Amino acid sequence: MSKGILFIISGPSGSGKDSILAGVFKKEHNVALSISSVTRPMRPGEKEGDKYHFISREAFESMISHDELLEYNCFVGHYYGTPKQPVLDALEAGRDIFLEIDVNGAAMIRKAMPQAVSLFVVPPTYEELCRRLKGRGTDEPAVIAKRLEAAKGEISRAGEYDYLVTNDKLDQAVEDVLHIMAAERLKAAKQQDLINEVLGKC
Ligand code: 5GP
Repeated sequence: MSKGILFIISGPSGSGKDSILAGVFKKEHNVALSISSVTRPMRPGEKEGDKYHFISREAFESMISHDELLEYNCFVGHYYGTPKQPVLDALEAGRDIFLEIDVNGAAMIRKAMPQAVSLFVVPPTYEELCRRLKGRGTDEPAVIAKRLEAAKGEISRAGEYDYLVTNDKLDQAVEDVLHIMAAERLKAAKQQDLINEVLGKC
């Protein structure tokens, strides 16, 4: 059986990665989201185990020292990381998986797993990003200011990615991601099983 494809999706807070992935998961079923471990406080509306496992700093540092993370980063004062085993298991079982991670984490993954396919989501303008982050109403103004500052550094590294997706109209951004997934699955190198099967029936 072919292995699953590891997709990385990054973009500044407020670029709409969550909404894009929600749209993708409605249409694509052989794909899962990696649940990150994080030390930041839960926001209103978030649930343990949905997108994140909310853990203490001590528990996170223990995961680092036991080599249980595929990558991790400290973002705006909190640790965020990808638990290793669930990702490896999904790929081995032929399931595609999305890591929704920041630019530093993405660079770590690209080094360790060069076969990963990376997508960067940008808002149509910086002003629109400010409007979305302030309108979300989930963070304190000081946190929003830090996130906006971090956004500039992240966007300046978008060129490191395989694909750039502009999230102006959500439906279009979801379609773009679905097309990228379809094209990646059609790559000949990922279809050796099919090639063997066709050869076997000649
Ligand atoms: P938020 O606090 O808005 O949920 O996420 C802040 C940033 O952390 C986003 O850029 C998000 O993609 C990133 N992030 C979420 N999970 C992980 C992770 O497991 N590893 C890394 N490196 N970044 C993550």
